[in-house]
Amino acid sequence: MLIKPFPEINNVHSIAIPLPGFSDLITSNLFVIGNVPVTLIDTGPKFPGSFEFVLKAFKHAGLKISDIERIIITHGHVDHFGLVGKIIETAGGLIPCLIHAEDKWRISSEAFQEEEWSEEAGNFMAMVHMPQKEIEKIRNRFSFFNQLCDPIDEASPLEDGDEILGAGYHLRVIHTPGHSPGTICLYESQEKILFSGDHIIKHITPNPLVEVRRNRLRDPDYQSLKAYMQSLHKLKGLDVRFVFPGHGEFITDLPGIISTYVEHHRQRMDRVWDALKKKPRPLYDLIDDVFNHVPETDVFLAVSEILVHLEMLINEGRASLVDPGPPAFYEAL
Ligand SMILES: [Zn+2]
Repeated sequence: MLIKPFPEINNVHSIAIPLPGFSDLITSNLFVIGNVPVTLIDTGPKFPGSFEFVLKAFKHAGLKISDIERIIITHGHVDHFGLVGKIIETAGGLIPCLIHAEDKWRISSEAFQEEEWSEEAGNFMAMVHMPQKEIEKIRNRFSFFNQLCDPIDEASPLEDGDEILGAGYHLRVIHTPGHSPGTICLYESQEKILFSGDHIIKHITPNPLVEVRRNRLRDPDYQSLKAYMQSLHKLKGLDVRFVFPGHGEFITDLPGIISTYVEHHRQRMDRVWDALKKKPRPLYDLIDDVFNHVPETDVFLAVSEILVHLEMLINEGRASLVDPGPPAFYEAL
């Protein structure tokens, strides 16, 4: 799929790394902001060839890696911070890296040294009634993802409202939890650009991913979809000319895309409710009724998607947990 090039904007260079094999994401987008020294927003994954792609893009823009003053990571997923170690090493090891406090642990070596399959993850799989053969596939996929990054331990924590000023730009941190608990958007007020990471994407609806490692959460009652909807609401009324997302094309109509997302989740919630009305069931057993087709690689995403909608149905009094299990049984009310 061909994507429209990002608009030319003073002090903003856009780098769209192609992601072969991840057709749903199309590209990983990096942004270089300001006059030298510049700020880099996200790094892309550690894919074969992706670092060379970034080097080439810097050269094309008349920049060097050592011109980077700081790196801001929109959230702790490997496709957004994978190259951070390589970039810092290339620059001589002096670049500060910033990420929201709640996602800081995700990029640390501790997170990658943790047992690949924690007890929490095992309990989660039993709770949702995941068959053993699917669990194996998910484990393999997670270890593949873990190879797409170099962890980093010296990151500085960001919080909502933090301001980052540099030559030719003024960024404000907007904490937008949902896709992950520490997801941020960055608002550049001079050019009115919102760097949206995976919170807003044009061609797909971002997943408010279920949080399996709940012992890491600041708010023990955190629910991904509830947080995601509140985070969408938080962006309403923001004066935005362009949204520059972490994947795919730029966006001009922020209120329009927010309405589309709200409608999408409303419909998905009704679909989960309809499936549950047939009979009380554990979560995994709802997949075939909720989705027409789930590719092998997306079973975890499908489970996550159903669970976050079930949580909302329970919040709204339209479903209940009849047996905590494992496996947990839900019923429609
Ligand atoms: Zn992500």
